[in-house]
Amino acid sequence: MANIIDGKQISADIKEELKQEVARLKEVGHSCCLAVIQVGSDPASSVYVGNKKKACAYIGIESLAYELPEETTEEELLAIIEQLNQDDHVHGILCQLPLPKHINEDRVIAAISPEKDVDGFHPQNVGALVIGQKGFVSCTPAGIIQLLKRSNIDIAGKHCVVIGRSNIVGKPMALLMLRENATVTVCHSKTSNLKELCSQADILIVAIGKPRFIGAEYVKDGAVVIDVGIHRDENNKLCGDVRYEEVEPKASYITPVPGGVGPMTIAMLMNNCVEAMKSSDLC
Ligand code: NAD
Repeated sequence: MANIIDGKQISADIKEELKQEVARLKEVGHSCCLAVIQVGSDPASSVYVGNKKKACAYIGIESLAYELPEETTEEELLAIIEQLNQDDHVHGILCQLPLPKHINEDRVIAAISPEKDVDGFHPQNVGALVIGQKGFVSCTPAGIIQLLKRSNIDIAGKHCVVIGRSNIVGKPMALLMLRENATVTVCHSKTSNLKELCSQADILIVAIGKPRFIGAEYVKDGAVVIDVGIHRDENNKLCGDVRYEEVEPKASYITPVPGGVGPMTIAMLMNNCVEAMKSSDLC
């Protein structure tokens, strides 16, 4: 029987800590503001944006909503970002992805000031992570580090296998585990011996983006299993990239879906906003 890593509880603890810190900073005259930009009205994006605004309100962070029409041009969006970059009242800028096809996401990400890039997607922040310098880190992998640390799971010296090499999850995840002194293997769609590599992992982090792909045969006895996937199954129930009921009896620790990695992403976004405010206001 595995220990269940309770992401709901850990994210609630982090939000509570941030709420207290924000209240303390407000008393000495510092307030925090996040600008959230959404282009178009993709329903999934609207849900994510709504949840981010709710988390801001809970913690005491002001949120400025920019709900732009689908036909907004890249130039118009870049002009808004530039205006927010210059605005001292705004500490964090988040542009909800994906953007409509006529807008170049890379150009938009690069236009956000690295000091306000609370998503941690700007090339300068990614580069800082690679060379071990201070910078914002992508929220989902940063949240996974918190799940491991707050569950008292040792990382140093462990063999960590990360499945997935996306810019948002897999790559920053591998770099963070390396920073924590794990021995890291990164697997991806061209990996030929996935099962063999995964079954050597002390810590297996699954961000393959395929519902219920990883079963017990990929998992070593006593491994820690982190499931990043979020999908709806044929019965419209949430499921992950891991076949939970098969893997759980073999694992020492496991994250459920829902209630594992998912809630951590917003908690770490809030954390990045507070960090942005603290460094800009030198508090
Ligand atoms: P992605 O589709 O960009 O990346 C998937 C990765 O898996 C790719 O790098 C690919 O090389 C690899 N892959 C695909 N097939 C493979 C195979 N057969 N063998 C080995 N590797 C293979 O997805 P992503 O954005 O990195 O997200 C991964 C999952 O995590 C998705 O299910 C996504 O919904 C979920 N996600 C969750 C959160 C959260 O907050 N919990 C945040 C981001 C993403």
